[in-house]
Amino acid sequence: MNKNVNMEDIVSLAKRRGFIYQGSEIFGGLSGTWDYGPLGVALKRNIMNLWWKMFVEGREDMYPVDSAILMNPKVWQASGHVDTFTDPLVECSNCKGRFRADKLDDPNKCPNCSKEGTFGEARQFNMMFKTNVGPVDDEASISYLRPETAQGIFINYKNVVDNFYPDLPFGIAQQGKAFRNEISPRDFVFRSREFEQMEIEYFIDPKDWEAEFEKWMSLCKEWFMALGLPEDSVHELEVPAEDRAHYSTRTIDFEFDFPIGREELMGLAYRTDFDLGNIQRSAGKSMDYIVKGSNERFVPHVIEPSFGVERALMAVLSTAYTEDEVNGDKRIVMKFPNHLAPVKYCVSPLLKNKPELVAKAREVYELLKKKHGAVMWDDNGNIGKRYRRQDEIGTPHCVVVDFETIESDGLVSVRNRDTTEQTRVSIEELIK
Ligand code: ATP
Repeated sequence: MNKNVNMEDIVSLAKRRGFIYQGSEIFGGLSGTWDYGPLGVALKRNIMNLWWKMFVEGREDMYPVDSAILMNPKVWQASGHVDTFTDPLVECSNCKGRFRADKLDDPNKCPNCSKEGTFGEARQFNMMFKTNVGPVDDEASISYLRPETAQGIFINYKNVVDNFYPDLPFGIAQQGKAFRNEISPRDFVFRSREFEQMEIEYFIDPKDWEAEFEKWMSLCKEWFMALGLPEDSVHELEVPAEDRAHYSTRTIDFEFDFPIGREELMGLAYRTDFDLGNIQRSAGKSMDYIVKGSNERFVPHVIEPSFGVERALMAVLSTAYTEDEVNGDKRIVMKFPNHLAPVKYCVSPLLKNKPELVAKAREVYELLKKKHGAVMWDDNGNIGKRYRRQDEIGTPHCVVVDFETIESDGLVSVRNRDTTEQTRVSIEELIK
């Protein structure tokens, strides 16, 4: 899969067609940040909405929250992030470049200046962005931009239980921004400093953890299918004990064959009662769950599927990216699944200087727009150029109003993105 897709082609198309731009590019950029253009916003939103439908609205046992990005710093002390959310950092004594020690191809050679033996001991670098809350800039006002959405869920566990008293097992879900001061942001949006997560903490009775973990593995695979990712491009990595967090009894990293190689797409972890236990100790409030109709009480354990939006989006982009030939001409076509395509239909008059064609095409456009929302009007250039443009943004159907439409059959031409075949369809059929 994706044998011939290279990252530069995707980055270049993303910029050229208005999906994703380098953040603050006009001022020289800001490393590790990306801005989404009109089509990128639509694609990202389609992915996030699909997740929301599948894991929140589609389930009876899921409670969504939207917590603040800024939280009391005690949250990050209790969770262990202040002390241990670190990556090993080395500095080259020659060029002063700084790198993440565990991601170097050759741990003895500087990837920037190629000098050997210039790294000293690695030191632990905390990846949380610090900020000050309030007008006084002192130790007491320090807070952090959240490096994950998960802790915003844990600190609301008690609120949800008190308000809704759900039966176990149940989940709390959240989508939103996360920030990590990555030492070496790289590979397009894959490793960004500001990104988006979709996380679930699924609270269970500890005796059920193995069965619940298996269920979540299947659900993750359903998600990959819903994204249209080829089954043989997704791999399960059973994380060995020495690489797992000390509290985790089982972790699976789902990896994907990105154009940059096989890398983590998302993670699934059994986190025991580590987080709720920490909160209970630090906040001095009970996190017990009382089983309905009994005196049984315990701190629930947790299965955590942690989905990254950017990595899902990058997997979707690289799966969709296709180069083929149409009538001897090379074309680039983004073969998005219909439900993820940023634009569902493009509507054009065959010629833009014929008012009767334009009027009819506008009518069709309005009808389709009312129905699907994501419909584009395009009357620029000749029809061939319009098709190429729509292929590059992955529009599944291009509708053209021509002379036959108004003079004889009333039918419009609908071109299929993948086959390039055109069929004639009535307007009623199209908007059905
Ligand atoms: P990695 O080992 O690649 O740094 P991680 O194991 O630290 O990732 P988690 O803390 O498990 O990642 O975060 C859960 C998910 O959030 C990841 O699987 C990924 O999809 C996403 N994610 C984490 N860090 C980034 C980042 N810097 N940029 C984009 N997405 C990220």
